[in-house]
Amino acid sequence: MCFLNTDKLSARLAAVAKYVPKGAKIADIGSDHAYLPCYLAKNSGISFAVAGEVAVGPFQSAERNVSSEGLSDMISVRLGDGLEVIQSGEVDHIAIAGMGGALIASILENGKEKLGSVKRLILQPNISAVSVRKWFLDNGWVLIAEEIIEEDGKIYEVLAAEKGSNPLKPYEQNVEAGLLFGPYLSKEKSKVFAKKWLNERNNWLRIYQQLEHAAQTPGTVEKKKELFTKIQLVEEVLGNEESKRS
Ligand code: SAM
Repeated sequence: MCFLNTDKLSARLAAVAKYVPKGAKIADIGSDHAYLPCYLAKNSGISFAVAGEVAVGPFQSAERNVSSEGLSDMISVRLGDGLEVIQSGEVDHIAIAGMGGALIASILENGKEKLGSVKRLILQPNISAVSVRKWFLDNGWVLIAEEIIEEDGKIYEVLAAEKGSNPLKPYEQNVEAGLLFGPYLSKEKSKVFAKKWLNERNNWLRIYQQLEHAAQTPGTVEKKKELFTKIQLVEEVLGNEESKRS
């Protein structure tokens, strides 16, 4: 089991691993079984990794896997919240995968002082990638690449960013739409991307229609307005024809 997962990652974690270069010193925050750092140590030529975990069970599982793979010299497994497990200057890459975007953004926000030596962030929010893109924009990180993949019926996004003077660079005229859909993903418009946003749009449409039958309080009117704007944004990015086909 452990052998399999540290030699062959899920497609989701493989999409994260793709952005970790040879020689990297990386912290994987919320590492759980430490599959990602074990894989990187065995297959990607990284020089050092920290596997950080806040929960005792996953921390112990990470320790067990790192030790049974004979990687304890290269991977330091540490128990702690977010970036508190790393010292300033210790790593040059950070991966955070398999959590909500708001939690990822709060981990980065709370550990900002540890990011001085970090060249690249590789983040895989399960939901609300928009929270991560907003954090990049507010904190001087330039989104350099995005991936969207489907695995076992779930859709995941991976975002990579590097420090830079112009975090607005990837966004063209419509920053609000770029933050929501992703500037690269919305240009590429892959099948998986269309599927994700048609699903979202259909959910919003259903809620909108339910609200039409509810009492029209200021709250429902406001919510309807917000849903309408988001539905329109999806239709703009996918094109009306594609949206109607769903
Ligand atoms: N990163 C792995 C992956 O993508 O497969 C594991 C994802 S798992 C769903 C999320 C892990 O993050 C859990 O083990 C959880 O305990 C850990 N976690 C959540 N909040 C954390 C925090 N603030 N600091 C460190 N770890 C955290």
